[in-house]
Amino acid sequence: MSKFNAFENAMQQLRTAAKTAKIRPDVSERLKHPDRVLSVSIPVKMDDGRIKVFVGYRSQYNNARGPYKGGLRFHQDVDLDEVKALSFWMAIKNAVVNVPYGGGKGGITVDPKQLSKRELERLSRGFIQKIYRNIGPHLDVPAPDVNTTPEIMAWMVDEYSKLVGKSTPAVITGKPLNKGGSQGRTEATGYGGVEVLKEVIKGQGLRGRGQGVRVAIQGFGNVGLYFALFAQAAGFKVVAVSDSKSGIYNPQGLDIKKISKWKEKNRQLRGFPGAKNVSNEKLLELPVDVLVPAALENQIHKANASKIKAKLIIEMANGPTTPEADLILAKRKISVVPDVLSNSGGVATSYLEWYQNLHQQKWSKAKVLKRLEKFMAHAFRDVAKTAKKHRTTLRNAAFILAVQRIAKAMK
Ligand code: NAD
Repeated sequence: MSKFNAFENAMQQLRTAAKTAKIRPDVSERLKHPDRVLSVSIPVKMDDGRIKVFVGYRSQYNNARGPYKGGLRFHQDVDLDEVKALSFWMAIKNAVVNVPYGGGKGGITVDPKQLSKRELERLSRGFIQKIYRNIGPHLDVPAPDVNTTPEIMAWMVDEYSKLVGKSTPAVITGKPLNKGGSQGRTEATGYGGVEVLKEVIKGQGLRGRGQGVRVAIQGFGNVGLYFALFAQAAGFKVVAVSDSKSGIYNPQGLDIKKISKWKEKNRQLRGFPGAKNVSNEKLLELPVDVLVPAALENQIHKANASKIKAKLIIEMANGPTTPEADLILAKRKISVVPDVLSNSGGVATSYLEWYQNLHQQKWSKAKVLKRLEKFMAHAFRDVAKTAKKHRTTLRNAAFILAVQRIAKAMK
């Protein structure tokens, strides 16, 4: 989603949902505004002795259903409009997957690749020094997002714990395993997406319930890789995958484990034996049953929406489809499972991490993934039921369901 109109797009989605489901005007009015937005300046001593000041944000959108919850992004394009939009979408996502959280999001306007590791640590700790009074395990629980890692989360928890005078792992999720992180968090988003795909297939009867269903996946990072691995394990035929450089395609199916090893060794997908190279743009237009954008925003747009051949799109990236493309896809009767539903496995597992921290428990990976399956199956069924009731798209239904849940909690 373009950063210039992200919040405007979010509000358009709210208006559409409110209109379809006749949401009370006072509820929509409340949801047009974040509860609180923090903007802080963070002076950081650079390695050469200079002081540089960075700007950071935290938008706490709504906490009717529980503590504010959402990631922290380190990127040169981070601004208030984007952070506000992302925090609204987190409120929606958390309500769709039905974890007891509101929505929040934050970030720092910085290109982290320009900083040394020690500068990055000082910046992360400096941000927490500025916002620690406004976050907490029952108040606001940040997590990783673009360019923020488990290690950064560990620095932040450490800083917070020092400032409040007690070890408080539950203040932030997405921590390393030895610092209170949860088993299963790494693969959770991809795993959850495949659970949603299985639910859709059950409902739609797409050829042979998994067997032979052809899937193309754009993006081979955390989300795309695990989606591909779990989809293949579930019997789907993954025929194409891509990274930022290019994609590979074999209509007979690809061996994802082998490709993962190949990519580790060669640092690219291109040239994988037995597959054709295909550009990222062409990957989206391949003759497949299911298309999975799992890389960046705005990949499916006005110019290519009419060329897509898949009958089903599972949005794993955030905001991969523009609003104009959405209309074209709906007209062409292509089902789109929206990001706020299909990639919510990440935050559902963050909830399980937080729960384990608060109860001083450590669960096995099998237990975490079993719980995650339930979250995803219930979320999909609730959204599909809402779509049927209001005769609307899954995206609009997800927003309706979420707004209704938030409204109930606000009442
Ligand atoms: P990542 O950085 O691990 O991977 C991103 C992948 O996209 C890489 O394979 C990269 O090569 C590829 N890519 C980059 N530019 C591309 C381009 N122009 N065309 C095609 N591929 C390109 O990131 P990730 O964690 O896998 O996240 C992917 C998406 O999923 C993002 O939109 C993110 O916000 C969303 N998401 C992630 C999580 C999570 O738990 N990681 C949860 C919810 C949503």
